[in-house]
Amino acid sequence: MAQREQHSPVAIDAELPGRFSRVVRFLISLIFYAVSEGWDFVRRAAGKSRAPRIVVIYYHHVIDEHRERLRHQLDHLVRWTTPMHAGRNQVVADGSRYAVVTMDDGWLSFARNAIPQLALRNIPVAIFAISDRLGQVIDNVAFDRLLNADELRGLDPTLVTIGSHTATHARMTTLDEPNSFRELHDSREKLSQLLGREVNAFCFPYGEYNHRLIDLCREAGYERVFTCDAELANPGDFAVGRVRVDPTDWPLEFHLKLMGAYRWLPTAISLKRRLMAPLRGRSRIAATSISAPS
Ligand SMILES: [Zn+2]
Repeated sequence: MAQREQHSPVAIDAELPGRFSRVVRFLISLIFYAVSEGWDFVRRAAGKSRAPRIVVIYYHHVIDEHRERLRHQLDHLVRWTTPMHAGRNQVVADGSRYAVVTMDDGWLSFARNAIPQLALRNIPVAIFAISDRLGQVIDNVAFDRLLNADELRGLDPTLVTIGSHTATHARMTTLDEPNSFRELHDSREKLSQLLGREVNAFCFPYGEYNHRLIDLCREAGYERVFTCDAELANPGDFAVGRVRVDPTDWPLEFHLKLMGAYRWLPTAISLKRRLMAPLRGRSRIAATSISAPS
């Protein structure tokens, strides 16, 4: 299918679930939330505390028209969770909820419309930049562009952590090992030099990764890597899951994502993949690569 120009974030984003599956995911997450909150309540009544809950969310674009929606989301985030930055081994308390805000690709619209709102609320954010695409456009997006080197350097380092999103936004599971390592290593080097500080976080474009790539990230010197599997995070984890959010999320949908109620999704996706693999005649290939819609 020819790549069509995308004139707004929600128009044609192949990575966003279709309306039907969005509604299905929403309804299952609503039930999941009711059941898990009910269970937490019973446990608390029995004097048991709940483990700290850390949810990492990731944005892409925040266009001017969506500024107000983003404000509501961030107000909701500080009301229901304690914001934390993306680094490892932070101190967390039982029974508390934490949220880590991240953004993929390094879009200008996010820097312009979201970062001032994040700063106002003292919410740290991690931005994953594509070292060889700074200032350019990817995926034929017509309404936004990526931050250039000066703009990236100009971001407040006390609020914004810069991580790598590869050198060229490659689908990492399609590359051989030397090229995979080059995407990891060179992007980290270039961004660290550009910023004058160590870049040690990474996230996989399109959420495509496998265990060998996780190991390669360690070898390339990263301290933490992020996927697009909607799992809860643990303070010490090297590889951390995230859930996609957009300013266009319904308020309750955003709340459920923030509460970790979409964490059933990775299991459902891998189950579906295993069930479908025989039908697709691809069972062997599917077993070696893990990817979730980013
Ligand atoms: Zn990306």
